[in-house]
Amino acid sequence: MPTILSHPAVPLALGLGLGSHIVSRPLLLAGVVASVLPDLDVLAFRFGIAYSHAAGHRGISHSLAFALLLGFFALLFARHLNASRRTAFAFVFVATASHGLLDMLTNGGMGVALLWPLSEERFFFPFQVVEASPLSVRRVFGPRGAAVFLSELLWVWLPAAAVFVAAVLVRRRMRSNPSIEGTSTSKLRSLAAAPHVKR
Ligand SMILES: [Zn+2]
Repeated sequence: MPTILSHPAVPLALGLGLGSHIVSRPLLLAGVVASVLPDLDVLAFRFGIAYSHAAGHRGISHSLAFALLLGFFALLFARHLNASRRTAFAFVFVATASHGLLDMLTNGGMGVALLWPLSEERFFFPFQVVEASPLSVRRVFGPRGAAVFLSELLWVWLPAAAVFVAAVLVRRRMRSNPSIEGTSTSKLRSLAAAPHVKR
């Protein structure tokens, strides 16, 4: 895995870039949690579950199906997350799915069971540019940790910064072009405020 500190880069870049008007703070927090949640599967080692098992590390919790599941959870609690159901679903799905996809860029461990339950095959991207993070916390702070941190800076945080800038530009465009955002709502409001208008 990239270190647990780097997985939130994706929801943070998207959420902060799009702004709290689209991605509320509670939804942003849910996205950050969803982006690190899949690595709770390291607990499987404690229960003697093999790495290669579907329930092992980088198994079920790293699949797109798991991301869909968390997305649906977010959809159910959209009102509490102060977001539309569509936004809550999409944001948490992307945040969770990004975890497995980032792991597929790492150069260590086993691949990711991205397509579980359709397949238990483990996948990597053809370009494994991110240094795999040691699973032991003590080693994260050693010299190996420094190499991991540098590669994550280059391959995770730098692209995340680009996503942030792109999201800011999208938000500005939406603001300056009302035909993209809120037109139907504003039309409805004007119709409601003018009852004499023929409908
Ligand atoms: Zn992981």
